[in-house]
Amino acid sequence: MLLTDDISTLKNIGEQRREKLNKMGVYTVLDMLEYFPRDYEDRSVLTPIADITPGSSFGFVARLADKPTLTVKGKFKLVRAKLTDGTGQLEAVWFNQPYLKNSFQVGKDYWFFGKTSEKYGLLQVDSPEWEVYDPYKKSLSNGRIIPVYPLTQGLTQKVLRGVIKQALDTALDEVEEFLPAEITKKYGFADRKYAVANIHFPESDNAFFKARTRLVFDELFLLQMRLLQLKGSIKKKQHGISIKNTDISPVLDVLGFELTSAQAKVLDEIKADILSPYVMNRLVQGDVGSGKTAVALAAAYMLISNGYQVALMAPTDVLASQHFESISRLFDKLGIKTVLLKSGMKKREKDSACEDIKLGTAKMIIGTHALIQDNVEYKDLAMVITDEQHRFGVEQRRKLESKGKTPHVLVMTATPIPRTLGLILYGDLDISTIDHLPPGRQKIDTFAVNTSYHARLYAFIQKLCGEGRQCYIICPMIEENEKNDLKAAVEYTDELKSVFSQFEVACLHGKMKADEKQAIMSGFYDNKIQILVSTTVIEVGVNVPNATIMVVENAERFGLSALHQLRGRVGRGSEKSYCILVSDSKNSLSKERMKIMCSTDNGFEISEKDLQLRGPGDFFGTRQHGLPDMKIANLYKDIPILKQVQQAAVESYQKDPMLILPENRRLKQKILDIFDKNEKKLGL
Ligand code: ADP
Ligand code: MG
Repeated sequence: MLLTDDISTLKNIGEQRREKLNKMGVYTVLDMLEYFPRDYEDRSVLTPIADITPGSSFGFVARLADKPTLTVKGKFKLVRAKLTDGTGQLEAVWFNQPYLKNSFQVGKDYWFFGKTSEKYGLLQVDSPEWEVYDPYKKSLSNGRIIPVYPLTQGLTQKVLRGVIKQALDTALDEVEEFLPAEITKKYGFADRKYAVANIHFPESDNAFFKARTRLVFDELFLLQMRLLQLKGSIKKKQHGISIKNTDISPVLDVLGFELTSAQAKVLDEIKADILSPYVMNRLVQGDVGSGKTAVALAAAYMLISNGYQVALMAPTDVLASQHFESISRLFDKLGIKTVLLKSGMKKREKDSACEDIKLGTAKMIIGTHALIQDNVEYKDLAMVITDEQHRFGVEQRRKLESKGKTPHVLVMTATPIPRTLGLILYGDLDISTIDHLPPGRQKIDTFAVNTSYHARLYAFIQKLCGEGRQCYIICPMIEENEKNDLKAAVEYTDELKSVFSQFEVACLHGKMKADEKQAIMSGFYDNKIQILVSTTVIEVGVNVPNATIMVVENAERFGLSALHQLRGRVGRGSEKSYCILVSDSKNSLSKERMKIMCSTDNGFEISEKDLQLRGPGDFFGTRQHGLPDMKIANLYKDIPILKQVQQAAVESYQKDPMLILPENRRLKQKILDIFDKNEKKLGL
């Protein structure tokens, strides 16, 4: 059997199962082999019945003392069997599997595995798995550590176990060793075949550990190599954007404040990139409110004052419009024409913006993803800035390049990440960090309360709005019952309208049309609306300095980074600001999150804590960073392996960047296989 064969060549995979497996991304025999368990169950121990206690899982070998009985109670069909092994007795109970009544032979040995409980003082085992016990045959499901796979409806552990065993038996030999021997040797890794075999059916704890280490290394190593290659290929690209005028004092003058030393340092790094003959691909990370926009504008000015165009891409319409308003106000003073391009605009407005972009009269172009769509033609695009996007995709860059442009790319993010992860999450980018906030910022007082505080909370809002301030109230939406959530948000707004009758209260949510959203945002910006009830559409980037209270309802529904982002919407002016997290959740994890929010406002600290709190199996939102899903690595827990990966990858890359040496041939192929496939999967 070949690794590239379709899974239907395996026994027991009919059309239905094939479809189900396809849905989980499993198409070939190799995919099946790389469908890794999410957990394991240690069934290597057989326990005498005398030693079995209620409330836990046990494996044991026993005989039936008698024929099973079938009891029918309304809808329920119970099959019971008395099991004995000479040391003791217990009862097995199966629900709604009446056929089991005739599946056993009295006097024969069976192996069972299941969870025990106590009913009326009697020990029982609930719906145990079972099979005929054969001491001479190694079983897939007992007497060993067995894998537990991620399932989808209609597939069972037993089926998957069987199919994967089959794939191992017939195709393991085909699994290729793609790591150069030098690396395997240096780190003392198990070989790849051993790793694949033992990740599914580990011979021992130690074998599992060795297998997993090797596979995690492989997964991260391939990714890291790919990212280094991308970075290398971008680095080497010449841009041909020539800068004669390097005086940026005019833009600094109109900003109305001095750049902080942190901003100035980052700006210098950007300048050096722009002045070098190679294309810039830089990430600027800085906490909310650290002043990333000012840095980006100074960088933009440097290109614009030399006659080029710069595009600023924001993730949402609201944010794009807001950027447009504040940036055009500044750039007007410098005689720089700024245009807005986004989906909600009238055709006439769009056409006119596109015309200006094409002719080159528009120098600063602000919008959403619409900016890099095919129908937008630039005269002289020299830089693309993406704000609050985690990434500017490789594919997007390729798209621009296909139009003959190799603009500089500047990515800004307020979700800082620990240094070790930086190299993998942003492996193709150079990183600059704005490491402190502008002076004079006040600490935002943060409180976590439960819903019984609502009355006091409203009184507090009343007081602050009475003094001329404004307030955000966030009602979260979750996807599963978006409709109900939306209804809840709208109804809550009505309730608040009567509570705050002397103020203007409005609701903003993602289902609104672009111009409705815009009208509400401008209303809030101009203080015509004092209390803005919103779903999370305002999470990123919004800047209304007069808003000083952020209330988050059902705060337990948000992750730490999201809460930090939300809190960052206040404390933007000179007035004292507050963040109030409302939650009745008793969940210890969400309580911990609230505690962290109340104790620190440092984004880096929060993102570290965020990683620590994420459980196993939560692969740290890799998608959001534009990376492929991890099959086995956990980017937080596997940091020790990640460090080895980075050392090995950098060494390999420096020695053989194009992977043309014979010992790297397979590695090169594997990288191509994986990433081509991933890009296809993402529909790129
Ligand atoms: P973020 O990094 O979150 O995008 P912004 O760029 O929106 O932050 O800046 C937040 C606020 O801080 C804005 O109102 C901006 O005008 C102000 N600001 C930025 N840099 C400085 C500075 N050096 N001194 C004073 N205020 C600044
Ligand atoms: Mg910003």
